Amino acid sequence: MQKLEFVYQARPGRVVFGAGSLQHLEREVLELGAQRALVLCTPEQRETAEMVAARLGARTAAVFDKAVMHVPIELAREARALARDLNADCAIAVGGGSTVGLGKAIAMDSGLPILAIPTTYAGSEMTAIYGITEGGLKRTGTDVRVLPRTVIYDPDLTVTLPVGLSVTSGINAIAHAAEALYSRDANPVISLMAEEGIASLARALPGIVANSTDINARSQALYGAWLCGTTLGSVGMALHHKLCHTLGGSFNLPHAQTHTIVLPHALAYNRQAAPDAMTRIARAIGADDAAIGVYELAKANGAPVALKDIGMKSEDVEKAAEIASSNPYWNPRPIEREAIHALLQDAFDGVSPH
Ligand code: NAD
Repeated sequence: MQKLEFVYQARPGRVVFGAGSLQHLEREVLELGAQRALVLCTPEQRETAEMVAARLGARTAAVFDKAVMHVPIELAREARALARDLNADCAIAVGGGSTVGLGKAIAMDSGLPILAIPTTYAGSEMTAIYGITEGGLKRTGTDVRVLPRTVIYDPDLTVTLPVGLSVTSGINAIAHAAEALYSRDANPVISLMAEEGIASLARALPGIVANSTDINARSQALYGAWLCGTTLGSVGMALHHKLCHTLGGSFNLPHAQTHTIVLPHALAYNRQAAPDAMTRIARAIGADDAAIGVYELAKANGAPVALKDIGMKSEDVEKAAEIASSNPYWNPRPIEREAIHALLQDAFDGVSPH
């Protein structure tokens, strides 16, 4: 029996979950002690944001629809200035990780409370991790001020998420929970959430592929995303997240797809070093092996499995291996330059992680 010894850090935050839960928006804004909300979204989700704004009527200060990936600092400043000029006393982020990221950047300096309404499975709404891009460099850090105070998870808002992105975003969420299970600061409560989060998503994704408007499958997926996001916000991540950060940051590869492709290979790398975590991941997916299980889940649901298919160039494999190995960080298996290169080559080619 293993020795039980851990630190469990709960994150404050109120979660309102359920199909149709957007109906509670006004109640939740008032619960925050706020009167006027600046609603944030991407240009693509303007219509959804307008619908959210309409629910608040006169309590909406404006809709700011310029959220983009990687949170450019100029955009955060523009949104902050708008919130100030309009006397907004809270911001509502409706969308995926990019929009929630903009909300976090506003909260960081202004202290404005953020209410998040996630529409992907990325999980940013449950973490105090922020990222801001300034002068071409993305700076990331952790600060509890950026943690959304309230999160409304309404699966009705996720039915428009394209099937392809639903699958990759779901596996992005699974990646958080998988690494939480072998995290250096893993703890029993977060591990329970991780296993349940993976199982929920693995059950939900085939249902979404079969029928993207199946609200039960959408609810299962969003429930899983909440759990997986919580694990990301509570314990440290390892090799997989570092590799995806490198690939996204240095080669501009798309976030959710990159996570989907790399995860089976990161798990295969850590297979011998974290056997208990692998057993739990495999059990949650209903597979014999964690790495192969994730690979098959992606493939069976039509997700890309090769980095070469999402815009990576073959000469970048060497560079990525160099960057990922140059700055040592904790991982259950030590970082070995040659083995990392082989891992990335496998992910580039899209072979099964045997
Ligand atoms: P995203 O927010 O960039 O969204 C991708 C696209 O999908 C956007 O055009 C968006 O408008 C659209 N979209 C989102 N939901 C939709 C819906 N329901 N219907 C139709 N279209 C929809 O993608 P993402 O994967 O959610 O987030 C990725 C970003 O979030 C990355 O920059 C990543 O670094 C960041 N992130 C941060 C954390 C954190 O803890 N700080 C965690 C996870 C991700």
